[in-house]
Amino acid sequence: MTALEGEWILQNLDASATGGLFDRIIGLKGLPRFQPTLTLNQIADLLDSGEDVPDEEGNPDWGICPLLEEGKCTIYAFRPFMCRSMVSEVSCQDLGHATMNPFVLTVAHVLMQYIEHLDVKGFSGNLSDVFLELAESDGAYRKDLTRPSAPRCGVIPNRPLRRLMVPWEHREKIQDLIKKLDSKV
Ligand code: SF4
Repeated sequence: MTALEGEWILQNLDASATGGLFDRIIGLKGLPRFQPTLTLNQIADLLDSGEDVPDEEGNPDWGICPLLEEGKCTIYAFRPFMCRSMVSEVSCQDLGHATMNPFVLTVAHVLMQYIEHLDVKGFSGNLSDVFLELAESDGAYRKDLTRPSAPRCGVIPNRPLRRLMVPWEHREKIQDLIKKLDSKV
């Protein structure tokens, strides 16, 4: 998720819930988890320039989201956009994984690219790393105009939106949505 979403989640949880959330995440510091090295807008730039997109390491054995408790999301009303966009066509419990409609996936990627663009002075990463960075930087990252372009521990600086990742077969169908988004951004 982006820092923008992390800040929004923190603003919407009451102080007691926020403390519990940080305690839970800090307890997991150092454990292996999926840590993206590229943002979606960075991937779009690489594809646009004909460069290869490196594979990223992920492993289901690294465990579940630290905010899942007894099968329920503890921040459900404020969950990040990527969680909201996981719309499976079948029961994930039955199959063991989600199966998404390809057009829904394209729309999710496009919206996520706009969200990253809106948060261009922020950063992205695994939900746990974004919360840890927000807790440690205390908002200072938005004021630091000289921030390094290299990733900090576990998070990556966001990039502006230059190209959308839309497969040919979805380009016509998604036009109206893109026009509406462009009129707002
Ligand atoms: S919806 Fe997102 S934040 Fe909530 S438990 Fe699932 S992965 Fe974690």
